[in-house]
Amino acid sequence: MKKILVAGGGGFIGGFLVADLKKKGYSIRSVDYKPLNEWYQLFEGVENIVLDLREKNLCEQAVQGCDEVYNLAADMGGMGFIETHKAECMLSVLINTHLLMAAKEANCSRFFYASSACVYAAQKQLRPDLTALTEEDAYPAMPEDGYGWEKLFSERMCRHFTEDFGLITRVARYHNVYGPLGTFEGGREKAPAAICRKIAQAKLSGKHEIEIWGDGEQSRSFQYIEDCVMGTQKIMNSDQVTMPINLGSSELVTINQLVDYVEAIAGIKVKRSYQLEAPKGVRGRNSDNTLIKKLLGWEPSTPLKQGLEKTYRWVYEQMKDR
Ligand code: NAD
Repeated sequence: MKKILVAGGGGFIGGFLVADLKKKGYSIRSVDYKPLNEWYQLFEGVENIVLDLREKNLCEQAVQGCDEVYNLAADMGGMGFIETHKAECMLSVLINTHLLMAAKEANCSRFFYASSACVYAAQKQLRPDLTALTEEDAYPAMPEDGYGWEKLFSERMCRHFTEDFGLITRVARYHNVYGPLGTFEGGREKAPAAICRKIAQAKLSGKHEIEIWGDGEQSRSFQYIEDCVMGTQKIMNSDQVTMPINLGSSELVTINQLVDYVEAIAGIKVKRSYQLEAPKGVRGRNSDNTLIKKLLGWEPSTPLKQGLEKTYRWVYEQMKDR
């Protein structure tokens, strides 16, 4: 049985990936730099190690004895975080660079890198009713400042480790991932979790009013965590996917529609106060899934309403228990 390293295993997606790989019977080493009591999920029977993967020697230690590497470790968050922490986001380049070097030296058979839809060029995302983004839309490059440039550079480094050194690399461009157990407060949360928290708070407090960043007409697609974990492994194990590929839902909604859905789940209506100066990212973004359907015969398909139902229930329970 293969031994697999999950870098960033203490994080949101990493935790679900470890859970799924463990269920399949793999031997797993999960590495993160947060103290163990801050990991989103912790499993017995998994080698859980706290290491700072910006350091090359610690990457070598993490990779030792592993056949495959999933790199999900990065300093990141929602728009409120990445627009205000550009240098910190860019420093994640050290993690992927040192992990690639260590994986090459250890003769790992495969390496997965979690990239992002933030690599896509800004000029392709100026309208909410845009055409969905295809993989070619990353070039000519003008990604999200800071976070997106780091992702694009690291994607490129994976490509050249394959071309020059023969290390098999796979890159997925994740579009917004959400689900239970994700961050829903503290400044790193993304739109679905933030809206669930605000509406749960409104319901619990009886004050039916929430703030929305921007005018609410910006559009996005949101991918449920289970689809992300399944797609990640399909991409890693594929012999057809050799270039960066979209991994996202193609169900486009505006933020106002997202609020409508959560209101319906919570059974309340809220007054919306629009914060036009707040961070809001690009005007519109959707995932074109033509390539993933062609190469894998599959795409993320959990309906947003269904995933939000589970996410809202979980967020509500966390807040109610306080
Ligand atoms: P997350 O923040 O929950 O997980 C990332 C983990 O990496 C964290 O637990 C963090 O402690 C760890 N980490 C950061 N720096 C580290 C270091 N120096 N050494 C070791 N561990 C370190 O985020 P997530 O949502 O699980 O995202 C996982 C990956 O997917 C990231 O690369 C992220 O950029 C990418 N991604 C996520 C989304 C999304 O919607 N969640 C969208 C696009 C891309």
